[in-house]
This record gives sequence, C-alpha cells and structure tokens, in this order.
Amino acid sequence: MFIGHFALGMAAKRLVPRVSLGVLFIAAQFLDLLWPVLLLTGVEQARIVPGITALTPLDFTHYPISHSLVMATVWGVLVGVVAYLVRRNGRVALVLGALVLSHWVLDLLVHRPDLPISPLGGPKVGLGLWNMPVAALVLELGLFAWGVWVYVRCTTARDKVGRIGFWALVAFFLVVHLMNVLGPPPPNMTAVAWAGQLQWLFVLWAFWVDRHREATVG
Ligand SMILES: [Zn+2]
Repeated sequence: MFIGHFALGMAAKRLVPRVSLGVLFIAAQFLDLLWPVLLLTGVEQARIVPGITALTPLDFTHYPISHSLVMATVWGVLVGVVAYLVRRNGRVALVLGALVLSHWVLDLLVHRPDLPISPLGGPKVGLGLWNMPVAALVLELGLFAWGVWVYVRCTTARDKVGRIGFWALVAFFLVVHLMNVLGPPPPNMTAVAWAGQLQWLFVLWAFWVDRHREATVG
C-alpha cells in the first residue's frame, strides 16, 4: 500500500481544514516513514523475494516497532498527544492519531499475514489482497481518486503553485505507484530503504502546495 495511505491524508483535510496536507501526510504515512530508518539501522528486517506476492516482492520478516498493531496504536496516541500539545485542539489530535492507526488497517488489507499484533511476538495477520492484483489496484487507485476528489473539493488554489503544483504532485504519485507495480524488483533492501526516505519529498511538496491553497470549509 502506497498511494492509498496518502489518499487518506488528502481526504482528512475535509475534517481538519486548517492542518497542512504535509502534516496529514506525515500522520497517514508515519509507520512507513519510520520503517526505512529502522531498516537502515538494522532494528527491523525485510528481504526481497520475487514472486512472494503478485504485486510486491518484499518479504517483511521483522518489523514489530513500525508495524505491529500495538505499536501502531502507541504511535497514534503519541502523535495525537503531540498534536494536542501543539494545536490545543481535540479534533486535530484525534484525526492525526486516527490517521496513524489507519495505516495499519490499510496494510492489513493488502499484506500477507506478516503484520504482528504485538511487538513481542505471537500471531501475524494480513488479508493478502496483494495476491489479487486487480482487486488491490482497484482498491488503491479508487482510494487515491477519492482522496484527490475530497481535497480538491474542500480547498481552492490561490495561485499557479496551488493549482499546477497540486496536480503535478498527483501525477508524480501515480508515476511512482506504476513504477512500483510494473518495474523490476529492487536490487537490495538498502535501495528500498533509501527509496522509502524519498517519501519525505512528497511530504515537503504537500507542505508547499497546501500553503498555496485555501480551505473552503470549516
Ligand atoms: Zn506500511
């Protein structure tokens, strides 16, 4: 799951119009922004096994801190508390915290049973939609289209950056998503981790574009 997470970030703008899209992206993608750091430091592990699912060659062998249900909840609470301390707004805190947890729920739909419930071991879950490529693609692209639609409906561009910059961001997401799906397997996990770090580019881009758009609700 990649652009599906960002889609929820875009849709959440409707609920908290005064929070930047960049912040919403950080919350929705919090677990996957943490993961590359944990991979590069050797705390978590994954390997490349071409064919392990129809859509992704990644075998997520060990990621209890970034992707267990318990830790996803902890990260969600933590983000919510920090958001509350900064914004003094219960709704903002709740939406950002829920976005963090939504990541795990969306991952649950597509991953093989590799998502741990507890960071200490025990059962792993995953509904495995990645093995039904058409369904997975329809789900993710559908979510993405919905997110774009909601964001566009609850904001208006103030200038060219707000208009063209936003649609360029949408196009870039789609290109990267198609490259992930159609491209060859990555050469090694270090490359995967650094590609993961590049997601900050989307976050920065969202901060920039959002400043050039005005919320029309709330
Ligand atoms: Zn994830």
